Amino acid sequence: MSLAVTRQHRVAAYAVAGFILCVVLATLPVAGVAEPHIAAFLPLFAMAVFTTEGLTAYLLWTQFMITRGPFLAALAGAYAYTSVTVAIQLLVFPGVFSPTGLLGTGAQGAVWIWAFWHCGSPLLIFAALLVRRRFPAPLPRAQTRLAGLVLVGGPVCLSVALCSLAIRGEAWLPKLIDGHAYQRLAHSPSGIGIAIVGAATLLYLIVTTRLRSLLELWLAVALFAGLGDVLVTLVANARYSMGWYVARLESVLASSTVLGVLIWEISHLYRELHAANARLSEYVSRDGLTGIFNRRYFEERYPAALAEANAERRALSILMVDIDHFKRFNDTLGHLRGDECLVAVAGALQASLRRSADFVARFGGEEFVVVLPDCEREMAARLAENLHAAVARLAVAAPFTEAGCVSVSIGVATARPDEPIQAAELLAHADAALYRAKEAGRNRVAAWQGVPLTLRSVHAH
Ligand code: GH3
Ligand code: MG
Ligand code: MG
Repeated sequence: MSLAVTRQHRVAAYAVAGFILCVVLATLPVAGVAEPHIAAFLPLFAMAVFTTEGLTAYLLWTQFMITRGPFLAALAGAYAYTSVTVAIQLLVFPGVFSPTGLLGTGAQGAVWIWAFWHCGSPLLIFAALLVRRRFPAPLPRAQTRLAGLVLVGGPVCLSVALCSLAIRGEAWLPKLIDGHAYQRLAHSPSGIGIAIVGAATLLYLIVTTRLRSLLELWLAVALFAGLGDVLVTLVANARYSMGWYVARLESVLASSTVLGVLIWEISHLYRELHAANARLSEYVSRDGLTGIFNRRYFEERYPAALAEANAERRALSILMVDIDHFKRFNDTLGHLRGDECLVAVAGALQASLRRSADFVARFGGEEFVVVLPDCEREMAARLAENLHAAVARLAVAAPFTEAGCVSVSIGVATARPDEPIQAAELLAHADAALYRAKEAGRNRVAAWQGVPLTLRSVHAH
């Protein structure tokens, strides 16, 4: 479901990766320099990572529930793992909630949780990539929720289990930190292993996916930032050193990249949805053959336009237009020529309207209806004459008629400002006027003027 990568996306991702690289390279020589102990820094940073990773997991989960792609659930699991791990680390970090950390943790607890976080997070992303290789297709609907719960719940349980081990396992786990100094971590197999896992996952992602989708591209940037975080942390050797502070910022960057792209994708899709909706509503209101508005549009717009006219005490006129002897036209010249004729007549009617509020719709078959808001009876009659003449000017050959070319009959009816009238009643008036035009010999305009009806004859041109 993730969008394809354009050149701009690639440039943006490389720019962020370049920035991360510059920060890492600039920090490495001064990573060990001791800096002031800012007590608020760690809680702020941990809250930022906890929130962004949690939100990322949630958004990936919602995408999974829609598309049912297991990769998304597995990736949501990786992000949920990190979010929970960071939250637990915050609880046990010495000096945040209590001098030694909550949950009765020992001195090694927080640093071991850091190790499990930075090793588990890329490993779970690696696992998600394997899940996608093994199960590329969407899951069957019936299995979606259960599979999703396993793929997300599993990593969350793993996080709780590993954090419990870190908190309670002082006796079994190797010592990594003395006071604030953690040189042992940098030189232990755990430290080196963490860096290797991060690098291997990044490499695997690049090689297997070629970073073709936005999600893959920014996941790679996130892994790169995570790798920078690990590297600078290990070189820094102590808490509250320059490298330690910079590494925490890299962590925030690593956790926000994928969230950023998911939010960008959502707003992009929202824009597309809006445009698609507009196209769709345009599509459903158009007649398939002639391209002018259809009956559905007329039935929606006409009563609204009349209600508006009644409320504002303005006139509104409608014209019923019917092609004369059209059955004979079809019978003589064929239905394809008949269709061409309908398109030509619709075009002529449409082109004759001048005001933006006026519209013509195909009422059905070879009948059209024209709605003219704010148009008095005389003006409507004049307009009807114009439409009648416009069709005559098309000069579509109809050898079987008196005039030799296609003509229309038009019935005109007007809603007067001082006499509010129902939509159906006004339509019936226009229809009756049309009927009288037909009766009087066709190829003419007739206006409804109450009973008796007077006819205005415009004989063949
Ligand atoms: P009148 O002068 O009294 O209006 O006679 P008429 O033949 O035009 O009216 P009638 O209602 O008898 O016939 C309408 C014809 O319009 C019948 C039908 O074949 C034709 N028609 C309706 N819709 C279409 C269409 O989409 N394409 C084509 N080619 N013909 C259509
Ligand atoms: Mg008809
Ligand atoms: Mg007809």
